[in-house]
Amino acid sequence: MTAKILSDLDASALSGRTVLVRADLNVPLEAGRISDDRRIRATLPTLQLLVDAGARVVVLSHLGRPKGEAKPEFSLAPVASRLSELLSRPVRFVPEPRGPSVVEAVEGLADGEVALLENTRFVPGETANDPELASEWASLGDLFVNDAFGTAHRAHASTAGLAEAVRARGGEAVAGLLLARELRFLGDALRQPERPFVAILGGAKISGKIDVIEALLPRVDRLLIGGAMANTFFRALGLDTGASLVEEDRVELARGTLERAGDKLVLPGDCVVAKDIAAGASTRNVARDQVAPDDRIGDVGTATVADYEREIAGAKTLVWNGPMGVFEVEEFAAGTLAIAEAVAKACDGGAVGVLGGGDSAAAAERAGVADRLTHVSTGGGASLEFLAGHVLPGVAALTEVA
Ligand code: ADP
Ligand code: MG
Repeated sequence: MTAKILSDLDASALSGRTVLVRADLNVPLEAGRISDDRRIRATLPTLQLLVDAGARVVVLSHLGRPKGEAKPEFSLAPVASRLSELLSRPVRFVPEPRGPSVVEAVEGLADGEVALLENTRFVPGETANDPELASEWASLGDLFVNDAFGTAHRAHASTAGLAEAVRARGGEAVAGLLLARELRFLGDALRQPERPFVAILGGAKISGKIDVIEALLPRVDRLLIGGAMANTFFRALGLDTGASLVEEDRVELARGTLERAGDKLVLPGDCVVAKDIAAGASTRNVARDQVAPDDRIGDVGTATVADYEREIAGAKTLVWNGPMGVFEVEEFAAGTLAIAEAVAKACDGGAVGVLGGGDSAAAAERAGVADRLTHVSTGGGASLEFLAGHVLPGVAALTEVA
C-alpha cells in the first residue's frame, strides 16, 4: 500500500483546521536537559508546513517508558521549550495527555498556533492501543498526521489507533513529511536499488536482525557482516571465538543462513582482539582463525576494513545497520569509523546511502559523517522491521492514495 502524504493535501484545506500530529519527540534527557534534539529537528518540516498553512496544530508524542503513569522525569515539558525555540514561536504545553484541560487548550488555539500534549505513555491505554483513548484524541481534530517513524512499528493508541479513529469519523490520516521520507529512502533501496546494492550489517546480536538478513539476501549483491553478529557466524564455520560474545542458540540458524547465502554473505577475515573489551586494553589484529581461548573480539580487522571499503566504493546503493565493533571504546572504534567514512565517501560520489539503527546513527555522528549520508533513519526498531519486510502498523492504518 502507499500511504497518502501531507504534501498531497491542498494547503488551503489546512487553514483553520485542527490537525493532530503524532511526532516522535522521544529524545534523550540527561538530568532534565535534552542531550540530543535530532528527533525534534527531524519533525520540524511537517510542523512548519502546518503552521504556515494556518492549521491549529496539536502534537502528541511519547517519551521513554513511564509505563502508564505520570512520572515527572518523563515529562515532555523540556521538549515543548526546545520545540518553541526551533520553530521560533510559542508552543503551548498542556501538562496532561487527555481530559478537560486538553479539550480547553485545543479549543483555545488560533490558526497557526501549536500545542504539545504531555507524554502519551502517561496513560495506560496508549501502549494497549485502547480504542476509547484513540477516539478521545480523534475527537479533538479533523485530520491526523503521523510523523512518528520511530514508533510506526507499534500499534499504539496515538499511532495506529488514532489513525483508525480519525478515519472512522470520516477524516483522513496521512503520513507526515519525515515519515514519508523514511519510507521513500528505505523503500526505494529495497524495491528499486541501483546496483551494485551492498548492505552492511553489524551490531550486537543476530537474533534481532535475522529477519533483516533473510529479507536482504535475495535483494542485495553483497551483504557485509561485522560486529558481534560475525562471531556467531564464525562459530557456524567451526572457528574458535575464544571468550567473545556469541549467541550459542543461534549458531545453527547462522549455519543455515551461510549455506543459503553462498558468496553473497561476506564475513570478516580478521579481527581486533583483546583480553578485555575496555578502555586501555592492549589489542592485537589477528586472522579470524587465530583467536586465542581467552581473547575477545572487539572490532573487525584492518584487512577486513580494506575489503569492505572496496566493496562500498563500488556500490550505487548502500544500506547500513549496526556498528562493526564496540565503537564506544576507543580501542575498538576504528572499524566502525572507517566504514562510516567509506559509506559517506560513496555518497559524496553519488551513491545512495541509508543508515538505520540508534547506535549506528550515534557512530555516524561521532565519525562526523552524518550530514554526508543520503539519509539517516530516525527509527531504530522501525527501520529494522521495515527492512525485514514487515508491515508497520502505524503506516498500514493511514489513508491510501486514491
Ligand atoms: P543499532 O542500534 O545501530 O541497530 P545494535 O543495537 O544492534 O546497533 O548494536 C550496537 C552495539 O553492538 C554497540 O553497543 C556495540 O558495542 C555492540 N557491538 C558491536 N560489535 C561488538 C562486538 N564485537 N562485541 C560486543 N559488542 C559489540
Ligand atoms: Mg541499538
